[in-house]
Amino acid sequence: NLYSLNTYLEQLNEPQRAAVLQKDGPMIIIAGAGSGKTRVLTFRIAYLMEQGVDSFNILALTFTNKAAREMKERIGKVVGYSEAKNLWMGTFHSVFARILRAKADKLGYPSNFTIYDTQDSVRLITSIIKEMNLDKDRYKPKQILSRISSFKNSLITVRAYFNNSDLQEADLMASRPKTGDIYKEYVERCFKYGAMDFDDLLLRTNELLARFPDVLAKYQDRFRYILVDEYQDTNHSQYLIVRALADRFQNICVVGDDSQSIYAFRGANIQNILNFQKDYPDVKTFKLEQNYRSTKNIVNAANSVIAKNKTRLDKEVWTANDDGGSIKVMRTISDGEEGRFVAQSIFDNKMNNQLTNEEFAILYRTNAQSRAIEDALRKKDIKYKIYGGISFYQRKEIKDLLSYLRLLINPNDEEALKRVINYPARGIGQTTIDKLTIAANHYKKSIFEVIQTLPLLDVNVNASTKTKLENFANMIQRFQIEAQTKNAFEVADLVVKQTQLVKDLQKDGTPEGVSKVENVQELLNGIKDFITDKIETGEDASLPIFLEDVALATDFDSDKKDETPRVSLMTIHLAKGLEFPYVYIVGLEENLFPSAMSMNTRSELEEERRLFYVALTRAEKQAYLTYAQTRYRWGKLTDGEPSRFLEEIDDQYLEYIAPKLPEPSANRFIDASLFEDAPKKIRFQKPIQKKRKEFLSNKSGDLIPPKGKMKKVSEVSSKTNLFDGEVVVGNIVEHNRFGKGEVIALEGKGPNKKAEIQFATAGKKKLLLQFAKLKVI
Ligand code: ATP
Ligand code: MG
Repeated sequence: NLYSLNTYLEQLNEPQRAAVLQKDGPMIIIAGAGSGKTRVLTFRIAYLMEQGVDSFNILALTFTNKAAREMKERIGKVVGYSEAKNLWMGTFHSVFARILRAKADKLGYPSNFTIYDTQDSVRLITSIIKEMNLDKDRYKPKQILSRISSFKNSLITVRAYFNNSDLQEADLMASRPKTGDIYKEYVERCFKYGAMDFDDLLLRTNELLARFPDVLAKYQDRFRYILVDEYQDTNHSQYLIVRALADRFQNICVVGDDSQSIYAFRGANIQNILNFQKDYPDVKTFKLEQNYRSTKNIVNAANSVIAKNKTRLDKEVWTANDDGGSIKVMRTISDGEEGRFVAQSIFDNKMNNQLTNEEFAILYRTNAQSRAIEDALRKKDIKYKIYGGISFYQRKEIKDLLSYLRLLINPNDEEALKRVINYPARGIGQTTIDKLTIAANHYKKSIFEVIQTLPLLDVNVNASTKTKLENFANMIQRFQIEAQTKNAFEVADLVVKQTQLVKDLQKDGTPEGVSKVENVQELLNGIKDFITDKIETGEDASLPIFLEDVALATDFDSDKKDETPRVSLMTIHLAKGLEFPYVYIVGLEENLFPSAMSMNTRSELEEERRLFYVALTRAEKQAYLTYAQTRYRWGKLTDGEPSRFLEEIDDQYLEYIAPKLPEPSANRFIDASLFEDAPKKIRFQKPIQKKRKEFLSNKSGDLIPPKGKMKKVSEVSSKTNLFDGEVVVGNIVEHNRFGKGEVIALEGKGPNKKAEIQFATAGKKKLLLQFAKLKVI
């Protein structure tokens, strides 16, 4: 099919084509955002196949499974779908889970091992902390898990931990001296339960390749061409796997952008890019610098920000695309208004430019920010989809059903067992479960084995509880027997019926209950689809494979069937590699973005800046940046200052726009002399001065502070938090300068609203609420 190949080659620029045609040997493509890295990788695979490389010999590692599917789809168009099917493609986790399954016995694991998701891991750590009688406020399960995760990703085994006094010292200093013991217990329990957590999938792969030269040789021979997308975000454990596998043929192609490295907090290491050049001295390096995604304004604005980072590899990103509109910056009074502005703007853009929901994305730094946005979108009846947050498979009713399925595949899976042993309720209480746990530890058996051999063991439970436990074990065993002859769907259906899981949910009767029943139904449908898909392609359609797919599903993988066009909402971390015509980046405030937790060191701040760079470079046509002067965070109203990233963007690419208020009021701009509480001197930069005049003459909305003077003006602007309706006579309020006082009278409306306040020390004052920055106590 050389014809289509050639036409495809014509859709590449010179350096892209050179990178595709460089068939053998180690190579690295370091390139800016939107410069076609992923496109080159995709086409390179098609090219390799055209050159006679067997599809079975190619391994491509991507950031999401969805990315892998899309690549396969495109490659299929060039080389034919039946060939593309054989490619090994997917995330590190899903590819190596497959390999571990095939070789599990070498590591002492059953081939039906369970994959623990974060929720399972946290539950297990929580119970270990409890059993060890440790203070759970000091030993926070999530923190401990992330510490353990960092050990695993650096290949620090339990033994290595106890040989490393620095690590132990660090945990001692953090008042968590038992961290190593928890780590040890956690690893042993996972092993006993036949479970691997996400990090194990990489750690154990390393173990497998290190301890068994024959296995290593087999996979080295198999994966003669290895390609890695988003290489800048691989961690040490992933780096070592790739290096080991590529060691024989050295046909390794990695692509990445150091400016988009955003997972250092999870152990990703920019150093991997630099190491690459050391590991393979004859590496060929390619640079792609032309951006095809975004307008000139967006590319240049992004460049002007990332230039502030000191640690960067040298490259210049440019584009031949149109200038496009300026990036719109928007200040709002509150997070609620921010949401309304974004919803209104999407609505207007759709109307004016004939667009559909899929063309919009709203990106934020933290998941919590989505709520205000969601409320506003719902009010405008704009359909949206949130990526991240609680995914379908993490919902309680879904996890419960999946736990039954997990348990019948692997009865040693203790987290699954604990979830369902008394759900739906069958009179097996926590005390009994505790007794079983102790017995299991004592007899070195799994809880399930303890239940099965109850009459032979010394476990102090009464006769009626014994019967209940036996009934439970018998039911699971029945499922196991059925599973030998039935397919995954039939088994799941049987489990739903026999456990009365849905009946229990139906009893509930609330709308949530109904939606839970629908979710269970949806899962059954999903299993059916899974079987049909797999049978079509001749792949393994068994229950363990389904459970593995579920465990490793990324946030983009679970929404296959929804066809309604929706606006995408997600954190910036999840948006990596994606593109949308219209992008709204919200919450550009100090302490939120950049995050308060990342302002201590230059390297942390630089990671936040890279994150901003990633966000901005997702936009094709138009980017909007918004910030709110006040925001509810942790249940409190907090004042916000514009993010430094706004100041860092070269002014020429920005345009400050006014919020379109629900009811535009002609009175928003009032004579400055009324502002008795405002600082005396405000100097506006030239272009803003002009804009300011425009605003005033149009009376169309709010004024946005000039860049450069952002902070100064925000001192004024951030005083507009209490504006209407929030202060009533009798309130005790606090003022920055005047201290505490009581509101004794109110007058005026909207922006003219004033409060007369009797301050404890400063006396009686009349203040314009819009600027007085009062806090109600
Ligand atoms: P990111 O850094 O965000 O991962 P990337 O470098 O992987 O981006 P791609 O996603 O491969 O970039 O490409 C960005 C956009 O530019 C895509 O829509 C792609 O189809 C388009 N593109 C890339 N190269 C070309 C080209 N030579 N001609 C036309 N369009 C191109
Ligand atoms: Mg990409």
